[in-house]
Amino acid sequence: MPSYKAPVDEYRFILNDVLDAGALSHLPGYEDATPDVIASVLDEAAKFCETVLQPLNLPGDAEGCIYENGTVRTPAGFKEAYDQYTGAGWQGLSCSPDYGGQGLPHTLGFAMEEFICSANLSFGTYPGLTNGAFGAIEAHAVEELKSRYLPKMAAGTWSGTMCLTEPHCGTDLGLIKTRAVPSGNGTYKITGTKIFITAGEQDLTRNIVHLVLAKLPDAPSGTKGISLFLVPKFLPDENGEPGMRNGVRCGSIEHKMGIKASATCVMNFDEAAGWLVAAPNQGMRAMFTMMNAARLGVGIQGLGIAEVARQNALIYAKDRLQGRSLTGVKAPDKPADPIIVHPDVRKNLLEAKAFTEGARALAMLVGLNIDRAHRHPDPAVKQEANDFVALLTPVIKAYYTDMGVETAIKMQQMYGGHGYIREWGMEQFVRDARISMLYEGANAVQALDLVGRKLPQDGGRPVRNFFASVQAEIEEAKAEPNLADISGPLADAFAKLQQATAWLAQNGFANPDEAGGAATDYLRIFALVSLGWMWLKMARAAHGKAASADGLVQYYDAKMKTARFFAQKILPEANSRYLSLTAGSKILMEMATEQF
Ligand SMILES: Cc1cc2nc3c(=O)[nH]c(=O)nc-3n(C[C@H](O)[C@H](O)[C@H](O)COP(=O)(O)OP(=O)(O)OC[C@H]3O[C@@H](n4cnc5c(N)ncnc54)[C@H](O)[C@@H]3O)c2cc1C
Repeated sequence: MPSYKAPVDEYRFILNDVLDAGALSHLPGYEDATPDVIASVLDEAAKFCETVLQPLNLPGDAEGCIYENGTVRTPAGFKEAYDQYTGAGWQGLSCSPDYGGQGLPHTLGFAMEEFICSANLSFGTYPGLTNGAFGAIEAHAVEELKSRYLPKMAAGTWSGTMCLTEPHCGTDLGLIKTRAVPSGNGTYKITGTKIFITAGEQDLTRNIVHLVLAKLPDAPSGTKGISLFLVPKFLPDENGEPGMRNGVRCGSIEHKMGIKASATCVMNFDEAAGWLVAAPNQGMRAMFTMMNAARLGVGIQGLGIAEVARQNALIYAKDRLQGRSLTGVKAPDKPADPIIVHPDVRKNLLEAKAFTEGARALAMLVGLNIDRAHRHPDPAVKQEANDFVALLTPVIKAYYTDMGVETAIKMQQMYGGHGYIREWGMEQFVRDARISMLYEGANAVQALDLVGRKLPQDGGRPVRNFFASVQAEIEEAKAEPNLADISGPLADAFAKLQQATAWLAQNGFANPDEAGGAATDYLRIFALVSLGWMWLKMARAAHGKAASADGLVQYYDAKMKTARFFAQKILPEANSRYLSLTAGSKILMEMATEQF
């Protein structure tokens, strides 16, 4: 059975030593978020995830969700764990106090999400979707809807879903067929079928609030004609409690590769009463509030799975005795050396360590910028923070989930054949991680978002600011010769990123297939530079301390070594990606369909 220890110390290092999260408590509304409060919330979150959620992960996978006559039963223990989760106020951690939330920074919510995803990815899908739906309703609905639904959602007694996908459309939502017909009393009758709806039905909450994309009768075609509706499972009665059943029912659940304890539902809407969220035909814009939050949340799923797989593989690699070290016996008292002596095993473990620690730092920087965007009094700072989050969202979604799967597989590999055996839990991590590359917009579509939307946004302002920040970090590091073997490779990879950006500007507009063919390589280079930047920041924070911090010398020294590993063994991938990118799309497009 796998184990899990939440990386609270890592968060302390990132928040206190690298990113100055102390500044959070200077933002209006976050005065309570002092470093002490943040530390104690993280400790409590860790305890809950380690002791309540993690033990349910393996049995939850074996049992899965059960569908019966329109109802869904989650695995044994999930309801009790969910009640503990909501009872302790975790659901409302970052929700606005105006609607009953605790109003703590989103940065903290991100950290908690990582712990949840490591401990029990399936469980995390239920509160995660409620969070996303909360944000979309708060940003776009009228006050009457907000005050009726949001306090219940912040408490977690009512949950949220996102209903986009239909049998014939996932990526191309312009094709949706679900209809919304005005009822004449300010509500709409929603009719249609949605598939793959996570948490569409479950036994954890008293009501379920579906956010549904549908088309009005006179809507323009394509995504310009999509509206967003709030459709509750039970219509709230005059006291705001669940009343009459609405015309929405779960027709079945999917039997799938992983996250088996997360209910994936077919939802049938049959003239269900719905309320418009945002203006008619503005549904995609409103839904993007939820989708962007969900994309970041799914990225964190990749990080969470990579971390828990890494932790278990590390324990195994220190314990498993096979063969002898190539440079002489390391454990003479044992019949063989532990496999961690072998260079290739170490390379795999270091790759996982370098990814998870770098990714965690970048996620925290994005979290801090979400909080700045929400709370900073200066509109220019807000704008810059929003730009940063928007630019990094597809990078985090796609890179973290690609790496989540890759890391889970590599960590499974550390177990040899035992990795394939269920009781070790590693094969579950591989199966669970796989969905993260697919849902919330498949990763290729994230790359198109980065290249097609985010780069040209506002005349390139977000990407210019991002480049300026990376450049400034490299320049500042030049004063420190000890960091040259980290900043040098970063400068090389950064040069490739700038050249790739120029190549796209030159070729992508003239021929959109060039942009489409280059997008995945481009996103990878962007991600490598982003994490390289984080590693340079972490190395700068650690290197002064490595000599001075009693008791933590090993810790800071390990940071320096991992930073060098990332710079020297991982960043060079930017070169091969750049070569592939600039080879262009002709080689992809010249093959006739029948020649494949
Ligand atoms: C377990 C699970 C849970 C889910 N939860 C939800 C949920 O809660 N709510 C919800 O609405 N949906 C949900 N989904 C649906 C999910 O978001 C979609 O499956 C996903 O967006 C992809 O859509 P699709 O399956 O129709 O694939 P398609 O759109 O048919 O795509 C197939 C392939 O073609 C590629 N492709 C398509 N268009 C392009 C393009 N323009 N350029 C390059 N490549 C392209 C894609 O990358 C993909 O690899 C869930 C799915 C699963 C399996």
